[in-house]
Formats: sequence, C-alpha cells, structure tokens
Amino acid sequence: MRREARTGRARLTAEQAENLATIHRSGEHLLGLINDVLEISKIESGRATCQPTDCDLHALLDELRQLLRERATRKNLSLQVHWADAPRHVRADATKLRQVLINLVGNAVKFTQQGSVLLTVDTLRAEQGGHCRLRFAVTDTGPGIAAEEQAKLFQPFSQALAGVNSQEGSGLGLAISRQHVQLMGGDITVQSTPGQGSRFSFELSFEVLEGAVGQAKAQRLVIGLEPGQPRYRVLIVDDIETNRQLLIKNLKPLGFALIEAADGEQALARWHDEQPDLILLDMRMPKMDGYEVARCIRAEETGCRTPIIAVTASAFEEQRDEVLAAGCDEFLRKPIRDADLFELIGRHLKLEFAYAGRFAPELHTALDAARLRALPAALRAHLREALLVLDGARCGELAEQVAALDPELGAELGRQVKEMRFEELLGLCEAADAWTGT
Ligand code: ADP
Repeated sequence: MRREARTGRARLTAEQAENLATIHRSGEHLLGLINDVLEISKIESGRATCQPTDCDLHALLDELRQLLRERATRKNLSLQVHWADAPRHVRADATKLRQVLINLVGNAVKFTQQGSVLLTVDTLRAEQGGHCRLRFAVTDTGPGIAAEEQAKLFQPFSQALAGVNSQEGSGLGLAISRQHVQLMGGDITVQSTPGQGSRFSFELSFEVLEGAVGQAKAQRLVIGLEPGQPRYRVLIVDDIETNRQLLIKNLKPLGFALIEAADGEQALARWHDEQPDLILLDMRMPKMDGYEVARCIRAEETGCRTPIIAVTASAFEEQRDEVLAAGCDEFLRKPIRDADLFELIGRHLKLEFAYAGRFAPELHTALDAARLRALPAALRAHLREALLVLDGARCGELAEQVAALDPELGAELGRQVKEMRFEELLGLCEAADAWTGT
C-alpha cells in the first residue's frame, strides 16, 4: 500500500501488464516497420548517402553483442563476436554498419533454433594511405536457405521459408542491408546449406584512425561531474512533456540547472530571459518548429553563440545538413543514448565528467543470467514481479538492494531500469531462473 501511495499510481493487474507489454511490442514493431519503409523509399529515391564519422569499431561490436545476447540467451543459443586484430578506430558510417550487423546477427538469432551464431571481423590486408580491408561474416547453425530462394532474398518484401514460417518480419531487412553495404563500397554474399546453417558476409575498406583517444572516453559510464565546475543552465525544448521529462531525468543527477520550453515561442522567450549555456532543441514542433527557433536565435545573437543540439526523429539521418544549416551545432537522433547526449553536452560546455572506473561495455557484462542467479531467490522474485507490472520506482529500489550485494550488477540494473528496458530484463530474469550452469 505504502508503495502505491509513493509511486502515485495504482498497480497493474497481471492481465493489464501483459496487454500493455503487447501494446508496447506492437508499437516497437510498427516503429521498426515504418523506419524500414522510410529507409527503403529513401534508398529507392537515391537520397541515402554514406555519412562516415570517427567510429570506435570495438565499442560498436561490443554494444551489438550486448544488444543481442539477451535474445540469444533466451533461446539457449551461444552468441560469439570476435574481432581479433581489427583496428579500433576507423572512419565509417557507424549508423549503417550497426544497422546491417544488427539485421544479419538478428536474423541469425531469430531463425536459429539451436546451436550458435558467430560474428567475426577479420582484417584481410592493410591498404595504402592508412586504409584496411575488413571482412564481416555472420555464421549460424540455423535452418539454412534453399539455393532457389537465395537469389531473391535481397529483394524488398521477399521472405524465404524460414521467414514465412516465423510469421514475423517484413522481408525488408536484407534489402536495406545490401543497399547500405553497397553504399559503403561492398556487397553482401550468402552461402547456405539447408538443414546446416547460413553464412552472410561482406568486405569493406576503412580509413584507420590513429590515437583517437577522445572516443574511448565517450564510451565510459558517466556518473557525475568532476567537482569545481560551474552549474550550467540547459534549456530543454520539446512540445512533448514525456520527452522533456526523459531528458530531465538524465541530466538532473549531473547537477545542471534545467529550464523547459514546450514550444518554439516559449523557447525564444526563455532564451532571452534566462540566457542558457546550451539548448537541446526538438526540431519537429507545431507552429514554430526547431529550425525557425534556431534561425531566430542565430539572427538575434550578438555576443557569444549558444550551442544548440538538435534532437530529431530516428529515421532522418540525412536531415543533418538541413539542421546544421539552420544554425544548430549538433545532431542527436531519437531514441537518445545517454552516452551520446553526455558526450555532446560535455564537448560544448567543456565539461569534465566523473566516470565509473570501468568502461560501460564491460559493465554490461555484469548483467548476465548467471550473475542474477547468484542473488537471493526472494530478491529475484521481487524484481520479476516489479518488472512484470512495469513498476519503475520499485525496480529502482530493488536495483539498489542488488547493488548492496553486487555493486556492479546493481548499477547496471539501475541503468537499464532507467532506460525502461523492462521486457529485456524480464527475459534475463527468466533466463536466470532457468539457468543450470555453474
Ligand atoms: P525478415 O527477417 O523481416 O523476414 P529479411 O530481409 O531480413 O526479412 O530476411 C529475408 C528472409 O531471408 C527471411 O524472411 C528468411 O526467410 C531469410 N533469412 C534471412 N536470414 C536468415 C538466416 N540466418 N537463416 C535462415 N533464413 C534467413
């Protein structure tokens, strides 16, 4: 009872929670589908371009492993990612590369019922001018694909037997992946034996970057600001209250003074009155949108220039130029990753962050079924219950209790709860309960 009063809402029944989870999953599925359709139409109208930036390849691969490991664990599959001596810092279109690899590894996990999925990145050779050629290969022990089906796999909306049987998916993933790889200068090939498995691979050349130390810092888990820094004022502009709250929840613990604006006009007024040190600006708002706000600010600015970070919807990477032309300094895509947000704010305000002692990707490894299994059964049961009814506040409390026993696990749990990854965490708890290993 006390908890209900404190969280300010009645708890959901199991049925309501299940319905909510279904709605959430359907929403995610629809968003994925819409993004895929937008992506394909962008490709077909020739608007997709390759946008290379400095990329930490090892972090990208590690992140991918974390992302898909839970899914693999739930199916009892072994998921391995090996990059041996592949260079760490390269110039690459990380968004496209990530999308291609998520699609290939995601398919392999989706269609394989037992055995393993392996992603390898091999350095084929060093090339002239500090370039190197890498081969990415995803091998699985799944159902395989018949020779006559292989030819049409890469056509939009085409599904082979495994896809049709699964009754999910849109048949767009491989079409998009091939186009992306072609834009980056390669091509995807498939080798497969029905009943034994499949191997999707592609080769790409990248410029290797030397000593890109700044990148590594961005991957570390920010836990606060180093003492002795000014209390910076950040203006958060978004017409959607939930989006503002999400940013507030992320930034408040770092000690920023936060100012809110719910539309373009309010944003200009707040900018005048409060003179923020930095602006996080949603670009799509009714009436006066973010582009106009940025243009007005740049036109009126006399003294120093306020850094503006544009926040935009996920599908439109190509809007970057438009956003910069309106006067914004940076471009942040929704859904926002904490690490990207902190990195951009930190860079513009010249902040010194306090980091957790270890790199975030390593910390993620704290969250595995075996380690959860080591917790007292009652604590795990409470956690499952709280996750099932999507009770974020209670999950946060339990993460703290976990932290008292296993600080690393508790911290990572708390972070995932903050990102509202209830479904994934629930899957992990179930895997922990089923875990029989030592
Ligand atoms: P989707 O996964 O949405 O169906 P994709 O374009 O990613 O679409 O894949 C197209 C089809 O290729 C799938 O429906 C499936 O039949 C087949 N396929 C892709 N990857 C694999 C794999 N690793 N093993 C077996 N079949 C696969």
